[in-house]
Amino acid sequence: MSIAALSVTSEVFPLVKTGGLADVAGALPSALKPYGVAMTTMVPGYPAVMREMSDAEVVRVYPDLFGAEARLLRGHVRGLDLVALDCPTLYTRDGGLYVDAAGKDWPDNWRRFIALACAGADYARGRFAILHAHDWQAAMAAAYVRFTFGHSSKTVVTIHNMAFPGRFEASIFPALGLPATAFDLEGVEYYGGVGFLKGGLWAADAVTTVSPTYAEEILKTKFGMGFEGVIAARKSSVYGIVNGIDTAVWDPARDPALTSIFDSETLELREENRLAVEKAFALSGKGAIFCVVSRLTEQKGMDVLAGCADALVAMGGRLAVLGSGDAGLEAAFRAAAARHPGRIGVRIGYDEKLSHLMQGGADAILVPSRFEPCGLTQLCGLRYGCVPVAARTGGLADTIVDANAAALNARVATGFLFDEVNEEQLTAAMKRALTIYADPPLWRALQIQGMKADVSWVASGRKYAALYERLIGK
Ligand code: ADP
Repeated sequence: MSIAALSVTSEVFPLVKTGGLADVAGALPSALKPYGVAMTTMVPGYPAVMREMSDAEVVRVYPDLFGAEARLLRGHVRGLDLVALDCPTLYTRDGGLYVDAAGKDWPDNWRRFIALACAGADYARGRFAILHAHDWQAAMAAAYVRFTFGHSSKTVVTIHNMAFPGRFEASIFPALGLPATAFDLEGVEYYGGVGFLKGGLWAADAVTTVSPTYAEEILKTKFGMGFEGVIAARKSSVYGIVNGIDTAVWDPARDPALTSIFDSETLELREENRLAVEKAFALSGKGAIFCVVSRLTEQKGMDVLAGCADALVAMGGRLAVLGSGDAGLEAAFRAAAARHPGRIGVRIGYDEKLSHLMQGGADAILVPSRFEPCGLTQLCGLRYGCVPVAARTGGLADTIVDANAAALNARVATGFLFDEVNEEQLTAAMKRALTIYADPPLWRALQIQGMKADVSWVASGRKYAALYERLIGK
């Protein structure tokens, strides 16, 4: 018998994406299918979504959803069974998914996403045994099931990034349509305001986060971002399930974005991709190419990396950076490239195709995150023989085996981990990588071990399905 599940998310690959959340939401339906879960995905009807819904059926009409007219449309789009919340007042606008063209949060974000969460809870009623909501934008779906609708769907809230709590002024509470009792420590109240993630974490039947180590870390003040209390209270219902990547999209033996396809037995073919990366980033000379594919933010440790750029070049390494984000960090990488022409190249922006080429051509990928719930780029790196050099935190700690002497001897090492995100330790980790890079057979062994690591959804799909089954008492 199959389990019907509704996944409610503010972004989904390949339709709308700002980060890993979209990748995960896009991958879950096919990851769960082999285990008897039929997953439908609900997203806001942004223009990029509505363009794909022309053949869809109207399944629900809301004359007044938090002050706006809205409809639910359901159709099959790019392999997904998709439900779009069509509401032009809330979602048809220029700018980003969450921010305006100037990068400022939309002032009505609470309304934009409470509408999504509430419609998710409403549509799940009688249709879906499982309601799975992602991050603060959808988490309140669990609160609506618990406090308002009281129907039988079991709810799961997944934390992809705790740094975004979705906290709003207490004055919006009456507009949410929740019973007054829900504005409570044991409810949606969060530091005097309304916390959308908090409300979801409190109300959900199960809470998951995207790696076992992050599930432990968020119990601590350093990583809990003010949620450590609620996480501790829910501890027996918190699970860490590591993300996978779509191994059909990320397949070096088939990837059309590569200049030269390869596999673990033909690693020498990576050389063509390496040349293409050199060209794309105007790199010259010799030396290992370290790459970055990332939001340029402090979370990702990009300030620390910018501070190490000179040291990396002095050690003989080269650096190719693809990313965008914090204006100061973008400027810092541009300045580093200007100081070291031919050794450091920077592309500010988002470029899916180039990101594939970099994974297939660069020697190592840097992920010096201060915290990292799971991280996807290191998984792509492993699969493409682009050896990760990363901070020992969250999913990075769970998915990379450090190349210490014992792991090298046992032939299980897949990358380089360091403990504290500071310039000294990042530089030392890059130096360790360069030392092994200078020994080609050893480096090749690292690459091959990484390429053999299981970065697919197989194991994690099974874990989510098992959790769903437990919740519905199968
Ligand atoms: P986060 O979700 O915190 O940004 P993840 O590592 O979980 O970080 O996921 C980021 C995703 O976005 C990965 O699929 C990565 O390849 C992609 N990505 C990030 N920045 C860029 C960029 N500038 N160009 C192309 N892809 C990018």
